[in-house]
Amino acid sequence: MMDSVSVIVIGAGPSGISLAHTLKHKLGFNDFTFYDKLDGPGGTWRQNTYPGVGCDVPTLLYSFSFNQNPNWSKELCEGPEILECEFDSILPLKYKPTEIIGLDMEDTVDKFDLRKHMQFGVECTSASWNSQGFWEINLVDTKTQVKYTRTPLYSYLQSVVSLSLGRSNLLEWRNLVVRFFHTARWNHHFDYSGKRLAVIGNGCSAAQVVPAISQKAGYVKQYARSAQWYHERPNRPFTSFEKWCLGNIPLWERYLRLRLFLTSDSLVATYLPGPAAEKVRAKAESGARQYIYQTAPKEYHKFLVPDFPLGCKRRIFDPNYLESLHRSNVELAPVGIDHIDETGITGTDGVRTEFDAIMLATGFDVQKFIVPMEVYGKDGKALSQQWLESRGAQAYMGVYVHNFPNFGLLFGPNTFPAHNSVLFASEVQVEYLARTLLAPIIDHRISSLEVKSTSENQWVNALQTELKGSVFEAGCSNWYINPHGRNSASWPGYASTYWKETLKPQVGVFNRVYRSKFWIGNTVWRWIRTTKKESYFMLLLSLAGFMWHRKSVSAHQLPFIYRKIVS
Ligand SMILES: Cc1cc2nc3c(=O)[nH]c(=O)nc-3n(C[C@H](O)[C@H](O)[C@H](O)COP(=O)(O)OP(=O)(O)OC[C@H]3O[C@@H](n4cnc5c(N)ncnc54)[C@H](O)[C@@H]3O)c2cc1C
Repeated sequence: MMDSVSVIVIGAGPSGISLAHTLKHKLGFNDFTFYDKLDGPGGTWRQNTYPGVGCDVPTLLYSFSFNQNPNWSKELCEGPEILECEFDSILPLKYKPTEIIGLDMEDTVDKFDLRKHMQFGVECTSASWNSQGFWEINLVDTKTQVKYTRTPLYSYLQSVVSLSLGRSNLLEWRNLVVRFFHTARWNHHFDYSGKRLAVIGNGCSAAQVVPAISQKAGYVKQYARSAQWYHERPNRPFTSFEKWCLGNIPLWERYLRLRLFLTSDSLVATYLPGPAAEKVRAKAESGARQYIYQTAPKEYHKFLVPDFPLGCKRRIFDPNYLESLHRSNVELAPVGIDHIDETGITGTDGVRTEFDAIMLATGFDVQKFIVPMEVYGKDGKALSQQWLESRGAQAYMGVYVHNFPNFGLLFGPNTFPAHNSVLFASEVQVEYLARTLLAPIIDHRISSLEVKSTSENQWVNALQTELKGSVFEAGCSNWYINPHGRNSASWPGYASTYWKETLKPQVGVFNRVYRSKFWIGNTVWRWIRTTKKESYFMLLLSLAGFMWHRKSVSAHQLPFIYRKIVS
């Protein structure tokens, strides 16, 4: 039996919010429901509340294009400001009310009336395409554990990555006396002031958490197995005048955003194969090396400077991490972990250290999309099995997977832009989905859409060929490359190229089941309903201008004016 829900989306993170905005305001469609296992919107920014959490892409760029915010406090904002969360009492990063004027995730959801479409505390456990050609979505209420099923006309599932617990298997969980948590599950009930803390890992999260916690902790020992490239990260607060300009000068924020976008995108040149890229990379490496030598304590220089090319691991724009290594209560141990016992850690150097708490800054299992839920396609095959057979996650344009009709992914395989904002990539995917799947279904033009397996494979193979020789494959251990040796995470080139790719006509790529001959009427009606008043005003203004121009220019003048324009 079909119920009234027509679109189901799993996940109300930034990508989901962007999709909700498009469904409601660009497509004029209201028959959709979002389910998220968290207690509110924001995804990553709701889950990652560790001290120091923040954005490493300028926030003017890492923000929704449809809800520009002139009140960002600084160039690179911290997590609470991005989320506008209500954890003030437990988060170490407190903002005065005046500083949280702009807001982002929460504000966007309310401003565009999206909250009523969202149900929180509901987890999707599995989904399957049934024999009648509909999705069946199995859900569980995370509080009551009540299980139920929803059958939308078509489904949309958002990609999700899982935590990487990496080296945590080296411990005996049951006997643990020390506190132990991942940075993405920060225990705010634990007061770490004056305590002895271990941080395992040295990626982006560790670089943020070490300088933040070492301000209050008694002792912080960081276990790091390999080096990273660090760059300076100036982070200037915006002045009141700058905020005024952002809010009051038309298109000023758009202009700055575009400038930031182009600058970020140009950094991709350092990652590409070939001698030209190597030259650019050598220059960037020299700058980073200098920065490390100038900022970090001398005793760590040898370990800190990598022997792999810049970009092979995600580069770190330093949030005062190297500076914090000078603190007397901070120790960087360039060793792995042999084992963890009840009260301490023994490193691979044989040194055992006692701790009050162990923090895993081991990142995320970026290769695992939409886990732990399982999705079953047309022939009953699980997506995880299909992806095992293809030697890693893959999707046409990072969005569509064969055997899975009326199903799309956001922030899916190979859509991670090297230096640019993930929100840009997500918004591009939302637009692409709206055009290829959602609008045609809403207009009753089609009842189903599925990418052809050959199109998917050809697209993915071409992309993998492009990735060959890129810096991601330079041999360091990184989260881009999966156990089969394939890179299922990175987009190989410029973020703008991905956008252009979505605009190309997609001829012969999809199998479509057509529905109504009269769809064009629905499309026109949708356009009429969703076109903004300002657009009608501009259209009327242009028409009036055209009429006035025709009236004021007599017929015999026209050829002369025409000649003047074209000359
Ligand atoms: C600490 C940190 C800092 C980052 N900084 C940047 C940055 O500076 N710039 C940048 O571009 N990117 C950054 N990123 C990447 C960031 O993840 C993306 O920018 C963004 O969050 C992607 O949004 P999303 O909505 O696709 O996924 P997410 O934010 O992960 O949201 C997914 C949502 O789906 C929900 N969900 C998952 N599974 C289920 C299920 N089975 N049932 C119900 N709900 C489910 C989750 O609860 C979550 O709310 C950062 C990531 C982290 C972890």
